[in-house]
Amino acid sequence: MSKIAFIGLGNMGGGMAANLVKAGHEVRAFDLSAEAATRAQGNGCAVVPTVREAVEGVDAVVSMLPNGAIVESVYTSDVIGHAPASALLLDCSTIDVGTARKVEDAARAAGYAMVDAPVSGGIAAANGGTLTFMVGGSDAAFAKAEPILAAMGKAVIHAGQSGAGQAAKICNNMILGATMIATCEAFALAEKLGLNLQTFYDISSKASGQSWSMTSYCPVPGVGPASPADNGYQGGFAAALMLKDLKLAMEAAQAAGAKVPMGARAAELYAEFTAAGGGSTDFSGIIATL
Ligand code: NAD
Repeated sequence: MSKIAFIGLGNMGGGMAANLVKAGHEVRAFDLSAEAATRAQGNGCAVVPTVREAVEGVDAVVSMLPNGAIVESVYTSDVIGHAPASALLLDCSTIDVGTARKVEDAARAAGYAMVDAPVSGGIAAANGGTLTFMVGGSDAAFAKAEPILAAMGKAVIHAGQSGAGQAAKICNNMILGATMIATCEAFALAEKLGLNLQTFYDISSKASGQSWSMTSYCPVPGVGPASPADNGYQGGFAAALMLKDLKLAMEAAQAAGAKVPMGARAAELYAEFTAAGGGSTDFSGIIATL
């Protein structure tokens, strides 16, 4: 059992902190939102009024925050130099590779081991402890991070050195954004060509058009396994979050000089969809525009 500080108790962090408590860890939690903090208290976390108090004397610090600017400010102002130097730092937020490396450099310079450990899986996986973690950091840091992350997930994979977790996350989600749109437009065309959509699913899900977007998250209501399409496109992975990840992928591609024409088009289409009011809709809801 370890003493763990948890920073950011929102949709994802709330369930993750609760799973650390269930695994027997002592969790000292902080969030700017009183509502999120109260929920965490109900789940067995000790809620404290500042980040600095949360990280005092802990073995590890886990964060699940909205973006890179917030991650950088929380770590440089209130974690680095305030948590014991022996504490392992784990940022599970989805942020840009450059900021992840910058914060990890600052942590290392101050004597800390740090990993970037973004997740695949949404709110249900965070609550159920079935997230997949993609981890960037040294072998020694990964070895220390693995048992902590395993209490919140079903798979913990070492992606490489610092920033590699974020790189794997945005490359994976760039595939997801592009294949979801491709799957949606294929269903829309199939319908216009007079195909029965269940029949098209039965064929394509066993043919070369198969993908996770088709067989695990089919964007057509009543076709394939239960998915947000069967629930009015609510309660899954919001289009605004898909757009966030695609923008991170575009920034990384530009910095690395990589050609990403399909990812770029997916980013444009999700930007149009969210600008038209679809931001809180599940990302498969983009089918309505095709
Ligand atoms: P959220 O907005 O529900 O939660 C973020 C929490 O951070 C909020 O409770 C907010 O009050 C808190 N916060 C903001 N600034 C803070 C600060 N300075 N100090 C302390 N707390 C602060 O977001 P979420 O859906 O939980 O997402 C968190 C991260 O997980 C994001 O980086 C997101 O991209 C990633 N992610 C989300 C999903 C998903 O399905 N929601 C899936 C995979 C990854």
